[in-house]
Amino acid sequence: MLAVVSNRLPFSAERHHGELSLTRSPGGLVAALDPVLRRLGGVWVGWPGVPEEDVEAAGGLTMPPDDGVCYRPVPLSAREVSQYYGGFSNRTLWPLFHYFVGRTTFDSATWRAYERVNERFAVAVAEEARRGALVWVHDYHLLLVPYFLRRLVPQARLAFFLHIPFPAADVFRVLPWSRSLLRGMLASDLVGFQVPAYAQHFLTCAERLLGCEVDRAAGIVRSEGREVSVQVHPISVDTKAIEERARPAAPPLPQQERGLEVLGVDRLDYTKGLQERLLAVERFFERYPAYHGRVQFTQLLVPSRERVAEYSQLKREIDETVGRINGRFSEAGWAPIRYFVRSLPPEELVPLYRQADVALVTPLRDGMNLVAKEYVTAQLENDGVLILSEMAGAAEELQEALIVNPFDVDMVAEAVHRALSMPEDERRARMSALRDRVRAHDVHAWVNRFLEAAAAAARQARASTASPTDAVLRRLAPWLAQRPTVALFVDYDGTLTPLVARPQEARLAEATRQVLEQALRTPNVDVVVVSGRSVADVRDMVGVSGLTYVGNHGFEIEGPGISYRYPGTERFLAALASAATELEALAIEGAWVEHKGVTLTYHLRAVPRALRERAGTTRSRDGRRWTGTRGTPSCTWWCAGTGSSGRRACGPCTSGTTPPMRTRFARCQGSGGPSVSRR
Ligand code: UDP
Repeated sequence: MLAVVSNRLPFSAERHHGELSLTRSPGGLVAALDPVLRRLGGVWVGWPGVPEEDVEAAGGLTMPPDDGVCYRPVPLSAREVSQYYGGFSNRTLWPLFHYFVGRTTFDSATWRAYERVNERFAVAVAEEARRGALVWVHDYHLLLVPYFLRRLVPQARLAFFLHIPFPAADVFRVLPWSRSLLRGMLASDLVGFQVPAYAQHFLTCAERLLGCEVDRAAGIVRSEGREVSVQVHPISVDTKAIEERARPAAPPLPQQERGLEVLGVDRLDYTKGLQERLLAVERFFERYPAYHGRVQFTQLLVPSRERVAEYSQLKREIDETVGRINGRFSEAGWAPIRYFVRSLPPEELVPLYRQADVALVTPLRDGMNLVAKEYVTAQLENDGVLILSEMAGAAEELQEALIVNPFDVDMVAEAVHRALSMPEDERRARMSALRDRVRAHDVHAWVNRFLEAAAAAARQARASTASPTDAVLRRLAPWLAQRPTVALFVDYDGTLTPLVARPQEARLAEATRQVLEQALRTPNVDVVVVSGRSVADVRDMVGVSGLTYVGNHGFEIEGPGISYRYPGTERFLAALASAATELEALAIEGAWVEHKGVTLTYHLRAVPRALRERAGTTRSRDGRRWTGTRGTPSCTWWCAGTGSSGRRACGPCTSGTTPPMRTRFARCQGSGGPSVSRR
């Protein structure tokens, strides 16, 4: 069973005359996932594309019937759409991940909305995850979904794919929430990227920002005791469907019998480098007047995010540039740029690709760029030249294209000239290599490979789930190897075990014992357990031989090569015994005395609240006051000065419940008195 989670469901809801209707989204990804979902049985979780208020105003929204795929809408209010989608996704993550740091907004309100909405998506898919479905989360809108889902369903089989670039660590770390986002993604079993560079950036971030152990060669991040696989799976297009659409279109006439076509197809976005491209086209016509009247540049611009002010501003700028260039070069019957602002269905778009002699695909940054692969696929005659930005993920695979730097206007203008004057042999050789490669890795192969990798990563993650200590010790190994010895000091009660009502109930968990044994086996590491218990008691409770045990706050130390007793304590044993007798004689309900050899502990934890005052401030028979901490139930320990030096022999108190742990020193009963601790 498969559960796909994406920001949008694979159709969009539109309002016509007060009623909402659903239209299936075109596009290769939907076409590729749909048959797989049907085959495996599954659910698609996403936002239907209209705010909840509109759904309510229209009296509801009916999902398509469950015909093997169940569509589960995640409702979002207009405010959430504006903050999570318009805000954090598209004004923070989108620009930053495309290296537009200056355009990135940092707003904690939109971040909180992003967290909330991601959690809601996770809740919506949790039931399927519990039933063992493989969950596939898509893209930058949902980076935290794996984190929330893992909390709800720890055993979930969970994969994530990022469709856009993952930026270099120094850019990513600019985000105040970078670590949370990384943890979000690392809750997956598999994290997939478009090209190796994005995966490398992610590994670097996991290593540097979270301190994870990273195996670059294997593409593994060890995070919180889990192994996360990081892989590269470049997305592709539905080559068969494109070829079928290209076939009926008339093949282009021989070049000498017609004008030449250069084509650009882009969504309106500042990442697409539209202004820079237009300037390159202008430079080309400036340098090569012989092409005036013979070459036409067609730009298809798909409207996008029109309600966002900076996008409408960008649109105005592009309109103006097109107008200026056309005004500058147009002649009777010829304008250098044909400019369409609309979205064409695939059956109209593919013939445009097929007719174009050159495709100009010059984004300033792009996760992959499907237009490049679609153009190549539509060249049934293995003709045509692709000019491709080196900043597009597609450039990684499509090396036979003319690769350009989209910021370099001269370089792009020269590439247009080279493409138009390229000998036919070279054009065909390049294009057939490109086509073969795209056809060998179409979008169906991409889906199948990703799902196989996800299932394998989930199996591997289960097999390799290690304790957090494994990860810590592995990470520390190189550091430890360079040091003569490292001593690890740990307390027992409240540290190795939870605090409990009675000391004998503080049993060490088997897993914790194994961790100590593992630490003991680690070269150059000494483990020392420090406790207020007697050394014999703490050694029995831990039960790991080979460790060093410090008992009675340091009066006693036992371990490999050491057997130490604080000298002269025998002198005080009588005083300690009489203190114990006095305290026991008080017979305060719930209070009891623990004899620990050279110290004793007076336990007050179980004393009823009303009696605490008395138990905490008591006078001994000779008039000395046993002071305590007024009003606190317990967990404050005391000890007296010891020895002629008057040095206090107590270590820090590490017990800690509510109220917070405090360390207090009792008024010394004169130097050399016995040590008494109260709990
Ligand atoms: N597209 C479309 N109609 C159009 C123009 C483009 O359906 O009029 C599609 C195109 O076929 C491609 C997608 O829009 O599949 C654009 O994908 P790309 O990866 O190039 O850029 P994105 O818009 O995802 O950043």
